[in-house]
Amino acid sequence: MAQDNHHHDHHHDDHEHGSELSEMQLRVRALETVLAEKGYVDPAALDAIVEAYETKVGPHTGARVVAKAWSDPVFKQALIADASKAVASFGLLNRVGDHLIAVENTPKQHNMIVCTLCSCYPWEVLGLPPVWYKSAPYRSRAVNDPRGVLADFGVTLPADTQVRVWDSTAETRFIVLPMRPSGTEGWSEERLAELVTRNSMIGTGLPKDPKELP
Ligand code: FE
Repeated sequence: MAQDNHHHDHHHDDHEHGSELSEMQLRVRALETVLAEKGYVDPAALDAIVEAYETKVGPHTGARVVAKAWSDPVFKQALIADASKAVASFGLLNRVGDHLIAVENTPKQHNMIVCTLCSCYPWEVLGLPPVWYKSAPYRSRAVNDPRGVLADFGVTLPADTQVRVWDSTAETRFIVLPMRPSGTEGWSEERLAELVTRNSMIGTGLPKDPKELP
């Protein structure tokens, strides 16, 4: 059911014109009404899903996933092998048919995610996408000039770190597994999770400096 929240194909008209957002909302409402009238969807279930995305699912979920991967090598292997399956143990909304892939940052490779065609995003671990993620400049520049985008976000990487950009679709989405900051040896998962920013899981940021935590 949850996958009905999001498009499964890439229609430019639905996404590219921010000024038509209210029209899009009207179209969604009209579609929802028709589907409910015909008995395909239960409006109460839809409301529950929307509420869950707005209140329960957010980057804190992804942060818990990352912190566990930093702490537990077995979980990390499972996450890299099959992120959809690994994050299912976090008791989240299931998105049947979707595929989540975790891409690991290393000193050699930094990963960044984008949806060049619209706004596909790993909602079940990061919640609602930030506005800039859906913007045309991000979607085009992330591919053409990823280092320029990173600079705009205040991130400078070593010259010998390659930047790899992953283009999401409705069926295949990505979460970046950032590098665990040094100076965090022996930290609990709960404390580690406080270092994991949303942008660090999109690849436009890095985890917080451990010294920043109170
Ligand atoms: Fe998309």
